Amino acid sequence: MSAIIKDIEIIKAKTTKINDVDFDNLKFGHVFSDHMLECDFKDGEWQAPKVVPYQAITLDPSSKIFHYGQSVFEGMKAYKDAHDKVWLFRPLENFKRLNISSKRLAIPELPEDYFMEGLKALLEIDKDWIPTNDGSSLYIRPFVFASGNGFHASPADEYKFIICTAPSGAYFAGEVRVLIEEKYSRSANGGVGFAKAGGNYAGQFYPTQLAIEKGYQQVIWTDDNTHEYIEEAGAMNIFVRINDTLITGPTSDRILDGITRKSIIELAKSEGINVEVRKLKVSEVVEAAKNGSLKEMFGAGTAAVISPISGFGYQDKDYDLPKLEDTYGQFLKKRITDIQTNKTTDPFGWRFEVK
Ligand SMILES: *Cc1c(COP(=O)(O)O)cnc(C)c1O
Repeated sequence: MSAIIKDIEIIKAKTTKINDVDFDNLKFGHVFSDHMLECDFKDGEWQAPKVVPYQAITLDPSSKIFHYGQSVFEGMKAYKDAHDKVWLFRPLENFKRLNISSKRLAIPELPEDYFMEGLKALLEIDKDWIPTNDGSSLYIRPFVFASGNGFHASPADEYKFIICTAPSGAYFAGEVRVLIEEKYSRSANGGVGFAKAGGNYAGQFYPTQLAIEKGYQQVIWTDDNTHEYIEEAGAMNIFVRINDTLITGPTSDRILDGITRKSIIELAKSEGINVEVRKLKVSEVVEAAKNGSLKEMFGAGTAAVISPISGFGYQDKDYDLPKLEDTYGQFLKKRITDIQTNKTTDPFGWRFEVK
């Protein structure tokens, strides 16, 4: 796909909603900025993207998204530094992953500049919506779904690519207690677990509700075949620290290739922390909890960056993690957010200025 866009058409909102927003008390992904990017796939190709006022979309009841679930998405954040410069974090990784997800769902892939130039145009016009309070950011949600019609169970002939943004406060999940899942699976070999497909989330909600009823906040997914190996923490990748080694599972059909995960691996290594990317048995974690070598567990993803786990349940027993003064989790989170918000040098070239 070699389509190149020169200028993106912009239809400005007549009024702004920004004065109604309390930027000191932002929740996560709750209010939306004035504009969105919209781009249609029809007649066999992606049409030129446009920036339009944030608005509802109308779909035919037979749109395939409702029946066959062809939908993929991304999650990213924009930050504004003390000099009013706007930054993204590894945005090309999100673009590439969106197309990897699309391909698996038989959704047509997007040209790179539709994504990147579209995103830049949107951030330029809604620049004032990027919050500057500590820990806050403009959460960005690019997504693609089947808008084409018909009950025939086959890929749609029309799609929509949209990017919406939501000014968001720090994502404080607090410390979570998790349940290691032994019955349900998030993903399977040959399945869509590596894709950011909407349906992956739908399938997680019910087992997560059951865990919440038992007093946990989140599920630790294990492999679908044996339920013996730790795979992900809810919709985040998982890291386990045993003694001074940080362990996370290898990506696969079943484990999503998180950008936070791979950044943590690189950063931790560069800070001299021992990192092992390998399969990790539940029994090894339980054993480490019993003998005191289990120091930390945390989830890793764009929204929270790092989400500490305070304990876990497994086979009707509960295990607590120690409360450490200095954790790898806190240290790595600060290093990553400082890079993201241009408070420190970026030896990895991860930061991307929007201009
Ligand atoms: C989005 C997601 C992650 C985290 O990916 P990031 O790129 O770090 O935001 C991890 N696991 C699953 C299942 C996800 O959907």
